[in-house]
Amino acid sequence: MTEQILVSQSFPPSENRTDWAATPSGFDAYVMKTYGRFDLTLERGQGCVVRDPQGRSYLDFVAGIATCALGHAHPALVAALTQQIQKLHHVSNLYYIPEQGQLAAWLVQNSCADRVFFCNSGAEANEAAIKLARKYARTVLGIDEPAMITAQSSFHGRTLATITATGQPKYQKDFHPLVPGFTYVPFNDIAAIEAAIADLDAEKRTCAAILLEPLQGEGGVRPGEREYFHAVRRICDEKGILLILDEVQAGMGRTGKLWGYEHLGIEPDVFTSAKGLGGGIPIGAMLCKESCNVLQPGDHASTFGGNPFACAAALCVAQVLETDGFLEGVSARGEQLRAGLQAIANRYPHLVTQVRGWGLIDGMELAADIDLKALDVVKAAIEAGLLLVPAGPKVVRFVPPLIVSEAEVDRAIGMVEKVLAKLAGSDR
Ligand SMILES: *Cc1c(COP(=O)(O)O)cnc(C)c1O
Repeated sequence: MTEQILVSQSFPPSENRTDWAATPSGFDAYVMKTYGRFDLTLERGQGCVVRDPQGRSYLDFVAGIATCALGHAHPALVAALTQQIQKLHHVSNLYYIPEQGQLAAWLVQNSCADRVFFCNSGAEANEAAIKLARKYARTVLGIDEPAMITAQSSFHGRTLATITATGQPKYQKDFHPLVPGFTYVPFNDIAAIEAAIADLDAEKRTCAAILLEPLQGEGGVRPGEREYFHAVRRICDEKGILLILDEVQAGMGRTGKLWGYEHLGIEPDVFTSAKGLGGGIPIGAMLCKESCNVLQPGDHASTFGGNPFACAAALCVAQVLETDGFLEGVSARGEQLRAGLQAIANRYPHLVTQVRGWGLIDGMELAADIDLKALDVVKAAIEAGLLLVPAGPKVVRFVPPLIVSEAEVDRAIGMVEKVLAKLAGSDR
């Protein structure tokens, strides 16, 4: 301790509001450096705008990485959470929680699933799905060494099992030994899945489940292809393999449909939700069909999972998503955004090679043969007053609050245009 910090003390101290994080008693002196943070401190927000301590405002097209579906300080969310915390905020899953039951009913009535397990994050939801798949394999299918197929450039979370499921060696490299039982295939490649299943059979490590994102988010905003997912569904049905979809980023209206699988015309056996579910309040869910509802008392648990406060947040988000025309609005804003970005791509074809996405999860891919990285664009955008986030080294991701207005999308497009014009000048 370099000096005593009192909880009542303002942090950052008001007399030193620039560069405070790197000072001897600043943020970096206490918080682990598990993130490469931008040089930006955020203190308050309203709608799609966030502000730093100096009062400078930023248009937020990150939304807490696709979590703050209703933006910041949404009046309905403020009211719902204020009411809930005055009533009851946390008890335990040892008891019945009305808000949890209500949220589970809404999720079941608005998806292909029959049962819900609640937790607090995307990684935990995927852990629950992996445990369910293993128990199903062992107790229903009679497979002793069940294997799970996942996709390259996927992202499923940061726990040991979910970094193993994540098909990106950069997240795994210093954490071996990993969890056994995972095999990776290229995304949107049906022949690769068929070959992987055959290889596992030959090794007597039978494939029990396939885990995929309907649209790969963190791995580069890559939408799944309909024909591919139809073929995967058919293989799973023929072989009794569980199809698990990770809807942590794509679900809860982000794509303009409630669930990403609705774009693909198939239903999973199991799927997971988190990011947008609580509108920024931590909550995750693992949902399954009755046919694979194998978890029994004692099999799995989470102290905070589905507490009254988090469920009140998710019920509020659900209520907004249900309002007439809301999801159509998400689709329309997404089309507007992609059209604007495509026009920019057409103007700078040597910088931008592709614009893609569904609804309000969109990516702008930078040319492979130039030095420009997604991080460079994101840094320049922050300077211009727009928050964006990379999805891999070469893709800039756009995931604004779902309540973003037409005017705000236009403003964001204008800022991206300026940023690229500036970067094009320095890159030519
Ligand atoms: C963010 C994300 C996760 C991990 O969620 P956490 O809440 O950070 O644990 C898992 N899967 C996908 C698709 C994600 O985008």
